[in-house]
Amino acid sequence: APTIVWFRDDFRLADNPALLEAEKLHKPILCVVILDEAHLPGAAARWWLDRAIRSLDGDLRRMGGSLHVFRGPAGQVLTEIVSHTGADTVVWNRRYDLKGRETDTAIKAGLRAEGIAVHSFPGGLLHEPWRIRTRAGGQYKIFTAFWRGMRETHPTPFPPAPAPEKLAFAPLASPPAGLLPQQGDYGLLPTRPDWTGGLQEMWTPGEGEAHDRFAHFMRDGLDTYATARDFPAENASSRLSPFLRFGHVTAAQIWHGATEKGFPERFLMELAWRDFAWSLLFSAPDMATRNLRPEFDAMPWRDDPAGLARWQQGQTGYPLVDAGMRELWHTGWMHNRVRMVVASFLVKHLLIDWRQGEQWFADTLVDHDPASNPMNWQWNAGTGVDAAPYFRIMNPVLQSRKFDPHGAYIRRWVPELACLSDKAIHTPWETEIPRGYPAPIVDHRLARERALHAWKTMGSGA
Ligand code: FAD
Repeated sequence: APTIVWFRDDFRLADNPALLEAEKLHKPILCVVILDEAHLPGAAARWWLDRAIRSLDGDLRRMGGSLHVFRGPAGQVLTEIVSHTGADTVVWNRRYDLKGRETDTAIKAGLRAEGIAVHSFPGGLLHEPWRIRTRAGGQYKIFTAFWRGMRETHPTPFPPAPAPEKLAFAPLASPPAGLLPQQGDYGLLPTRPDWTGGLQEMWTPGEGEAHDRFAHFMRDGLDTYATARDFPAENASSRLSPFLRFGHVTAAQIWHGATEKGFPERFLMELAWRDFAWSLLFSAPDMATRNLRPEFDAMPWRDDPAGLARWQQGQTGYPLVDAGMRELWHTGWMHNRVRMVVASFLVKHLLIDWRQGEQWFADTLVDHDPASNPMNWQWNAGTGVDAAPYFRIMNPVLQSRKFDPHGAYIRRWVPELACLSDKAIHTPWETEIPRGYPAPIVDHRLARERALHAWKTMGSGA
């Protein structure tokens, strides 16, 4: 009887505990993906998912097997595959969002009731999201305390496991219900218009590329990461986030690789931020929809569809904000410093509820992560647990001068401004606004006063 390996956010062969377990069982395996409408990611991440499936399928083919892709409610589909193939074991790596957990718990119970063995294994975090706790056994609320706690109690994650050398694959004779044609259209891509050209230019999803990229970053990034990571024109960060999101590479692989190369602790800390986000989501599963500081439930956010649209389209008249939003639209990714600037701009300058920004990111980021995205939005909005206070309002012009001093990043994404001098490019309204570029949507000083006023009325209940 075959073993079913159910792939979800873990499109890789190496350091894949579910796959290793299947190998150890010495029975033929059937590798499956189930496209379940209830668990599909946003539009840009769906593009990535399509490529991730094809890439893993290619890797499995090189080992003599393939990836079988199904569509439908996961529980029903799995039951169908089990009865069709006579499989007696199902294995997977865990997911930790509430919907995923609930689905997996129900499926596990259902299969076990039918006498099928089900084994689940840690997902691609450094540590399970319930592992790093305060001395009193509670959830850390402050990242630096979490980091210290992690370094004291669990200084190193488990060393990563290699890819299996050989696998025996089970055949799939006649197609069970829900099976999609191999290498066919999985229904994950936009049709008309097809806006994925920029994504295709920028990314090659897959395990091989993840490791190439990591090796490249280990070679070239060592000297520059700590000093240049905040400068969006520098290309100094790893850009591994979507590869981590889809599990082409695991945090443990990166941790151990970086430690061996003597990479600065600063980088390991960034990986730990991701774990922190998942531990927060694990204890506050509705973090994407609920203010972690409840006093913000009384915040008088503005309903401003036109302002939201200008922000989404990169037409706010603030060059760094617009460059970031256009980079996001074009590539499905945005530099971390610029993510902070655009988030602050939406929430403070436009006084729009952070959840609207969170949703836009969820739909447009290829690295959209159900824990990191809401945590970072709440952090920037001041509504989170370990958040920058709301009254600390980022000045988009000063950020632009400091982190893109020569305007190289702005010139790349906002070509209308390319002709301006290094000095004028941060404030085109002070000289002459080039044709086709908008005047600022809000005045910085007035927007700042409005945000502070709103924040104060929130506190007074007025
Ligand atoms: P590197 O600097 O090379 O860092 C290595 C890895 O560490 C990243 O790939 C990522 O997995 C992790 N990491 C780094 N910074 C953070 C952070 N602040 N929070 C959590 N993990 C981090 N990151 C996502 O992966 N998915 C998201 O949906 C997401 N949404 C964000 C929304 C906002 C408003 C902000 C301000 C940040 C968000 N981030 C998100 C965090 C961060 O911007 C990205 O992880 C980072 O830009 C990815 O680039 P990199 O891989 O080059 O990072």
